[in-house]
Amino acid sequence: MIILMRSASPGEDLDRVVREAEAAGLRAQVVEASGRPAVALSGGEPPDPARFESLPGVAQVVASSGPWRLAARETRPEGTVVRVGDVALGGGDCVVIAGPCAVESETQLLTTAHLVKQAGARLLRGGAFKPRTSPYSFEGLGLPALRLLARARQETGLPIVTEALDEASLGQVEEVADLIQIGTRNMHNAGLLRSAARTGKPILLKRGMAATLEEFLMAAEYVLAEGNRNVVLCERGIRTFSRHSRYTLDLSIVPAVHEATHLPIVVDPSHATGRRDRVPPMARAALAAGADGLLLEVHPTPERSRSDGPQALLPAQFAALVQELRALSATLDRGREVAR
Ligand code: PEP
Ligand code: MN
Repeated sequence: MIILMRSASPGEDLDRVVREAEAAGLRAQVVEASGRPAVALSGGEPPDPARFESLPGVAQVVASSGPWRLAARETRPEGTVVRVGDVALGGGDCVVIAGPCAVESETQLLTTAHLVKQAGARLLRGGAFKPRTSPYSFEGLGLPALRLLARARQETGLPIVTEALDEASLGQVEEVADLIQIGTRNMHNAGLLRSAARTGKPILLKRGMAATLEEFLMAAEYVLAEGNRNVVLCERGIRTFSRHSRYTLDLSIVPAVHEATHLPIVVDPSHATGRRDRVPPMARAALAAGADGLLLEVHPTPERSRSDGPQALLPAQFAALVQELRALSATLDRGREVAR
């Protein structure tokens, strides 16, 4: 439950609400909701709203749809806009994030960066530190890859999205990333979430491959609770009994996220499907479902890729898909365009 205060209410009104909550055996956390003070309540039995509605300075008492507090839509009904360089995620348009799974070489990254930019990507992705299922697989070039990403940004102007795999490499990643990715395997890593949040950089939080909506939002809550409000969620497919697809893209989470929280959500059809021929239909569906962005893997020579080659779009396929998405967004008539 969240108690929204009137903007002009004095501090003593806020203190009174906190005391009343504590007297009712609840935990009270003072937060900001749409620029106004608010008190988020948790723990104990849900209180009678009337107990708070009558207190001086209280504008409204709203029930949150779950245990999340700072992520609750009620605390920011207008939605959060996460700014990454000159790009706005959650501002109403669908932002295309593209690039290779992993940075493999100067030629591979710079070629891809220029091609995806030309085709309409607004952010460049590429892993320097790769979480792999097998310890014998390619785990990324590390620091040299970060240097190449910085160079790609310099040449193209595209802000960089790259993953922080652990706390040991976070410092290096932080220096280059404009948007720090936390991968599916680390969604439950509270220590990494907290440390990444404290960098102050925006965070792209991928859904754990077996996480419920509640677990996903509570992971976001770890970042928000550190005072970092710039979280972008990412649906990347979950584990189900289906075997026709690498994971199952759970698009139904997009409207559920928009209802429950003010945070933007992007969709990654590349990791979800694992096959490049399945990426375009799922990308179109994600746009139609209201995704605030798409994360797409692109590689100039996928057959030689050291990770996730089968799901990487060829540059020409990527360019055609962006054109298709632009045409689709015009027919959807929801005001959501593919960001230019
Ligand atoms: C990735 O984006 O390259 C990646 C490894 O994603 P995920 O954590 O969703 O598997
Ligand atoms: Mn990948």
